[in-house]
Amino acid sequence: MTLVNRAIVAALDLVPKGLLWRFARRYVAGETLAEAIPIVRDLNVGGLLATLDILGEHVASPEDARADGKAYGGVLRVIQRDRLSANISVKPTHMGLKLDWDLCLGILQDLAQRAHRLGNFLRLDMEDSTCTEETLRLYRTLVQDTPAVGVVLQAYLKRSQEDAKRLGEERANVRVCKGIYREPEAIAFQDREAIQRNFIALLEILMEAGSYVGIATHDPWVIQEARDLIQRRRVPQGQYEFQMLLGVRPDLRARLHAEGERLRIYVPYGHRWRAYCLRRFRENPEILRYVILGLFRPS
Ligand SMILES: Cc1cc2nc3c(=O)[nH]c(=O)nc-3n(C[C@H](O)[C@H](O)[C@H](O)COP(=O)(O)OP(=O)(O)OC[C@H]3O[C@@H](n4cnc5c(N)ncnc54)[C@H](O)[C@@H]3O)c2cc1C
Repeated sequence: MTLVNRAIVAALDLVPKGLLWRFARRYVAGETLAEAIPIVRDLNVGGLLATLDILGEHVASPEDARADGKAYGGVLRVIQRDRLSANISVKPTHMGLKLDWDLCLGILQDLAQRAHRLGNFLRLDMEDSTCTEETLRLYRTLVQDTPAVGVVLQAYLKRSQEDAKRLGEERANVRVCKGIYREPEAIAFQDREAIQRNFIALLEILMEAGSYVGIATHDPWVIQEARDLIQRRRVPQGQYEFQMLLGVRPDLRARLHAEGERLRIYVPYGHRWRAYCLRRFRENPEILRYVILGLFRPS
């Protein structure tokens, strides 16, 4: 990030909540589940699937982890009640991974079993590299009891091809993404092209092994290469889906959908939206331009 962008991001911390929300509402479904549901319903009506994420990470206490675990249970109930085509995505540190492994596992086991009973699915998001090993271990422990869980691999991590081989052998359900955290060169590719190539290599390993793959990207090059790979290897439609974030590249999303691809939208909601949006800005300083324009445009 350039110095100017860094200064703008720092200044955004001072922007009043109401103003920031005018920009954030494109990326965040609201503060409550009640606000997120109509958005999921609209996506479903338009032929898109969703995954619901309650915003939060690195909880401060076991009570917070349990409370948000309970909230996720509520999300699964509402998805069932309202017959929505949606599943859930959960960050392990949100469920207390950094506080207590057993606490985190216990909450996730309850959720995974509930998801299984309801014919639903729980995806463990992948966080920074201090969580990789433990998240894979959580996944492997959960999947012993229920197949209704999946995990994520990040194409920027150099270890990911080895992880993909093992997960492929286990026929795991894996989302592949580039990775959002800043990681050191010793363990992560820094070069855009290396990450793109690794992304495709991971898809190839997993698809070859027969894993179900979520292709989570808005990068037109990766999408095109992925589609070429799918065609070349004759991967059946039921073995993969594309995934995108709410509010990002709706043009691309519409095109993929029109071309018949299965597409799932990641729908975050919750009162911690401010921290989430600041992360979006840091990840992609380009969008700062839209924030600034948005702040001065009547809604
Ligand atoms: C469904 C989904 C789930 C994800 N889960 C995880 C996870 O578990 N762990 C993890 O580390 N990362 C996760 N990510 C984030 C991912 O790792 C990338 O950081 C992010 O998707 C940007 O990479 P990209 O492949 O879209 O390519 P990029 O080259 O970064 O983006 C391609 C284009 O998309 C647009 N774009 C991309 N991101 C944004 C944005 N945030 N706001 C506005 N425009 C944008 C820009 O126009 C950009 O030029 C997930 C992403 C998606 C889509």
